[in-house]
Formats: sequence, structure tokens, C-alpha cells
Amino acid sequence: MGRKGRVCLEIEDRHELHRRYHEDGATAETLAAAFGISRSTAQIIAGVRQPRGLTLAERYWLKVVRGEGPDDCWAWTARTSGFGYGSIRRGGAKDGSVPAHRLSWEIAHGCEVPAGMNVLHSCDNPPCTNPEHLFTGTQLDNIRDCVAKGRFVSRRPAYGEDNHAAKLTRADVDEMRALYRGGGWTYAQLGARYGVCSMSILRVIKRRTWVAV
Ligand SMILES: [Zn+2]
Repeated sequence: MGRKGRVCLEIEDRHELHRRYHEDGATAETLAAAFGISRSTAQIIAGVRQPRGLTLAERYWLKVVRGEGPDDCWAWTARTSGFGYGSIRRGGAKDGSVPAHRLSWEIAHGCEVPAGMNVLHSCDNPPCTNPEHLFTGTQLDNIRDCVAKGRFVSRRPAYGEDNHAAKLTRADVDEMRALYRGGGWTYAQLGARYGVCSMSILRVIKRRTWVAV
């Protein structure tokens, strides 16, 4: 196989190859000929062979399907661990696995996640690895985030003044949308600025709340 070969087919072709292998029973040889790739690459795309000689980042890109729009979640197509998070082996047999969204954050930022920090989802979709939907926080942030998203059972639902979005004023909403449009602000940074969780920011930016403003 090879890094010289066409490892990266278009996403549509990868889906089609995967489907034909698993649903139509096409062989790797047939698919290799049909898509102009090597047999082993066809096996890798079908998910039945581990690529060799690829970097961790290259293996990551083989397993993720980006959403169509820039704000869409990126689906993880390979193994998941508990709680639905994507999982990928670091490399060597003894190196263990890394959560796929954590690796995505590292690839996007070009550095390791700072010690003591977790990579959290603003989209509340565990298998998503879109770095735009990821931010770092402490475990305490994680718990607060879960509470804010209603994943922890509380005595009563968050409505009215208990609703995080209700902490915002119309002026806040106008300003944060302007800041976001201007670029350079992440949901997490805006959340810190306005004292609400990233999910609330995402909803405001995407006009799921404050629709009429
Ligand atoms: Zn997402």
C-alpha cells in the first residue's frame, strides 16, 4: 500500500467502497481495480486492515468524515469507547488509545492538551471531532457543562431565570454575534466573557435561541 498510492479517495468514494465491501460482498481486489487503488488501501478504507507506515494524524483522517458545512459535526467512523467517544490507537501495541476528539484538538492546535485539562464538546455530540466544537476545560468545567446541558438530573428543569441563555441581554447577544463574525473568538472564549457555557453561545450564534434578535 502506500503513502505513494491514492490513500485518500473522495469521501463519497470512501463511503461507496465501504458500502460495497460490507453490503454487496465485493472483494478488496474488485474494489481496488474499480477505484484505482491498491488492494491493501481498499482494505484499509473498508476498515478491515490497519494501515502501516502512516502517522497518527494520517490514520485519524482516514477515520473521520467531515460534515458538509463548516459548523457541522464530524463523524467518527471507527471504534468508539464508553460514552460514545471515538478512540484511536496511539501507534505501538503498548501505547494505548487516545480519544479521537482529543487527538483532533491536538492536530488542530499543533500541541498536546495542557496537563490537567480535558477536551470538551460544545455540540454535546460525543463522537464529533470537529475542532470548532471542542474546547479545553478542567474536569470541574466538564461537570458544570453537563449540568448546564441538563445531562445531570436536577429537581427541576432550567427555565426562566435558571436558564443560562436568560443571563444574556439583547445587547450581549448583538455584541457576541458581532465578535464571532469578526473571527478570532471561540465559543469557549465567548462563554468565559459572558459567563455562560459554550453550548449557550453556540445556540445564540446559530440562532437556536434569541432567534428574533
Ligand atoms: Zn460537533
